[in-house]
Parts: sequence; C-alpha cells; structure tokens
Amino acid sequence: MITYERDKCIKCGTCADVCPRLTIEICDDGYPAQVRPHDCMECGACAVNCPGGAVHVAAGVGCFSALVNETLFGKRAGCGCG
Ligand code: SF4
Ligand code: SF4
Repeated sequence: MITYERDKCIKCGTCADVCPRLTIEICDDGYPAQVRPHDCMECGACAVNCPGGAVHVAAGVGCFSALVNETLFGKRAGCGCG
C-alpha cells in the first residue's frame, strides 16, 4: 500500500507507468490514486521512480507481505482480501 505527498507530486504519471500490478491510476486532475491497494506487492518501484520523492510505500501491509509472513513465519497476517 502506498501514500504520496500531493504537494510534491508533479503529475508525471510515472508511478502508474512503472507499477507491475497496475494498482495506480491517474485521475482526471492529473494526480495518482491507488485504486487496488491490496494488489500492491510493495516492490517500491513507484517510490524509487518518482521524480518528486512524493511516494512512500507502507511496507508490511499488502497481500505480498501477508503471504510471506504466513508462509515463512506462520503468522496470520490477513491483508483484507479474505
Ligand atoms: S511518480 Fe511521483 S510525481 Fe509522478 S505522478 Fe506519481 S506521485 Fe506524482
Ligand atoms: S510498491 Fe510496487 S506494486 Fe505497490 S504501488 Fe508501488 S509499484 Fe505498484
């Protein structure tokens, strides 16, 4: 799951372009929105490629982390997808 600082965003659309899970879409106003947050695998590509340093990845809250935690550590760590 990601957050971004709107005042740092220059509306370039890169975060949506680089997301391998297609979780980000660009709104009519040019700003991004994460429309499928639970599909985020927390890869960090959006944050690394954001020219404004606006994107932040909240690690450990997406489905990928939930699967890793459950598989490797036996933790029940649901991500809201059932
Ligand atoms: S990559 Fe950064 S600056 Fe570009 S649209 Fe996304 S949040 Fe805004
Ligand atoms: S961290 Fe990766 S999967 Fe999640 S929104 Fe960013 S680019 Fe997409």
